[in-house]
Amino acid sequence: MVNALADALAQLVTAAREQLDDASEIVDRSADEARDYGSVLAQGAKTINEAALPDAVAAAVIEATQTMLARTRRAEERLRGMSADLAKLRHDLQEAQSQAEHDPLTGLPNRRALDNALQAAVIGAAAAQKALSLAFCDIDNFKILNDRHGHAVGDRVLRLVADCLADGGGEDVFVGRHGGEEFVLLFDGVGAEQAALKIDMIRAQLATRTLRSKTDDSPIGNVTFSAGVAMLREEEEANDLLHRADRALYRAKYNGRNRVEIDREG
Ligand code: GH3
Ligand code: MG
Ligand code: MG
Repeated sequence: MVNALADALAQLVTAAREQLDDASEIVDRSADEARDYGSVLAQGAKTINEAALPDAVAAAVIEATQTMLARTRRAEERLRGMSADLAKLRHDLQEAQSQAEHDPLTGLPNRRALDNALQAAVIGAAAAQKALSLAFCDIDNFKILNDRHGHAVGDRVLRLVADCLADGGGEDVFVGRHGGEEFVLLFDGVGAEQAALKIDMIRAQLATRTLRSKTDDSPIGNVTFSAGVAMLREEEEANDLLHRADRALYRAKYNGRNRVEIDREG
């Protein structure tokens, strides 16, 4: 339900941005035309000035031309102002779109963005017949950490894990917050073994760090996570891939946590 609403909102934002693009183009073009029209009028006024017209006629024509010139300039100014307003509106919409797709705590793509990225990755991998691996990561005993050290420390740990995954994954790997203390990584063009190796490196590095409280420097302890990795099969759907990675994650938990398991079952 929330996802459907978010989708509808995203479609609306996209439509609004397209309309704004059109409106901006029209306003910019109108402002340019007003400026050109102003130049023509100014040139006309100069020509009338130089022409040997009776004084009274010349004065009336010049006055009318100058009034038109002033109006045209005001119109141009207003149009330029509108153009700036439209640019700001477009920027605000872009910002709203980005917020709708990111998790405010970690800054990572949120569940909605993750679902979309996964769908696109599955379609892309199937079409190009290339590998796609998915890692489902879940922080170990996070509830205990929350209970023992408080929600704020829990949030700090979530940000730390998010940063480690994003930095360790590198530019080619999509990292999203699936929800709670769960993260999903998409490895485009990478097989399960290689993806698992990369995740395991991140896991091992994080496990060596000892966090300390920011208030009294007391040790918080080590933060570890478990992960399950699965590679896309022929004609498999996104949900099934996610489900298999989750199954491998469950095995990693069952086998003692702080480890990475690959789904190999038929
Ligand atoms: P396991 O090793 O089996 O994964 O155990 P766990 O304790 O990590 O898992 P469990 O699902 O029991 O607990 C997850 C906890 O994550 C419970 C919930 O309060 C906490 N949590 C979810 N979202 C947030 C958040 O945004 N901030 C904080 N601080 N805690 C959160
Ligand atoms: Mg969990
Ligand atoms: Mg957990």
